[in-house]
Amino acid sequence: MAEKGDIELAAVLKRYGGTVAVDTISLKIPAGTYCCLLGPSGCGKSTTLRMIAGHEDISDGDIMIGNEVINDLPPARRGTAMMFQNYALFPHLDCTDNVAFSLKMKGVAKAERRQRAVEMLRLVHMQDYAARLPAQLSGGQQQRIALARALITNPSVLLLDEPLSALDPFLRARMREELKRLQKELGISFIHVTHSQEEAMALADLVVVMNRGKIEQAATAREVFNQPRTAFVARFIGGHNIIDCTVDAAAGTIRLPGHLPGAVPLPARIDGARQPVSVRADRARLTPPAPGQAGFAGTVRAVEYLGSIVHVGIGAEGLGDCTIDDGEFAVTVDERSFFASPVAVGDRVSVSWAPEEVHVLEG
Ligand code: ADP
Repeated sequence: MAEKGDIELAAVLKRYGGTVAVDTISLKIPAGTYCCLLGPSGCGKSTTLRMIAGHEDISDGDIMIGNEVINDLPPARRGTAMMFQNYALFPHLDCTDNVAFSLKMKGVAKAERRQRAVEMLRLVHMQDYAARLPAQLSGGQQQRIALARALITNPSVLLLDEPLSALDPFLRARMREELKRLQKELGISFIHVTHSQEEAMALADLVVVMNRGKIEQAATAREVFNQPRTAFVARFIGGHNIIDCTVDAAAGTIRLPGHLPGAVPLPARIDGARQPVSVRADRARLTPPAPGQAGFAGTVRAVEYLGSIVHVGIGAEGLGDCTIDDGEFAVTVDERSFFASPVAVGDRVSVSWAPEEVHVLEG
């Protein structure tokens, strides 16, 4: 038995003419989940959101909310509400009337709808701005009004399409906290479309990484970061080196540079096949490999000081038959360790990592 706010997508497909925008995706979002749909532009995030909202027909498959298949229900009867990227506030209505608008459409009496609107304005800390027009508000304040307007219908699911992209970085971080607070307070699901991995990691209980209309991985932020399923996820989430290696079937391992066989076990694979693995940039060290560790020697190509960490890019010449994106391996070093033994562009350095830091990706 599904709960009232549970959402399930079962083999959902969306075609625009000959283009497949969403390719047979299946996903369960339990009630009360903060879910982020994450991926590059054009991967099908907004289309997925619009199909849940009912603003887009489904070409095939089913969408269920609770125990009900909602494919053919109009948007207003799905128990969902949508907050748009550009907020879409009515310029000639004050904040109270903007927030109360959907209740007016439903025929709720004026006194009651204004009272409910004031409650919503309080929820988003905008009660002091009730009589202002949208043009008299900052971007962040307009967003709060748009949120209140979406929430006044008591949805079981709030859908947000790139809600933070119009804000400056400082405000974005503040509104991020605010969204999370609201979601916890209301106990409903938020489904939030973003192309920012940082935003998804900060907010989501469930991160859904999409690529070319398909779901590459759906898991907690920590799992996506620590166990990316594919090279695409590891690249998109960032902070990983993806190394394309060769399988040594006799030894049951992959051939890593400077590495003794036996330490990185593999599921059965064909000898000589290519196998991608990832190594986190913060888990590699600028030291020669200890016995049993993998590693190589290279030349520093880039040093970026990022405050608490320093990013070092190393041209990886000594990788044997392994290859790496752009031929550059990234190591991040915490600030204090970096300045204890700094390196500069052009220096020869050793890089190493322990076998347990090697994460085998799906080939
Ligand atoms: P995202 O939100 O991840 O940027 P979209 O869901 O907007 O991606 O788009 C997915 C794909 O579907 C893209 O290739 C896009 O060009 C295409 N697409 C989206 N909307 C339409 C439409 N109304 N007509 C035709 N193609 C569309």
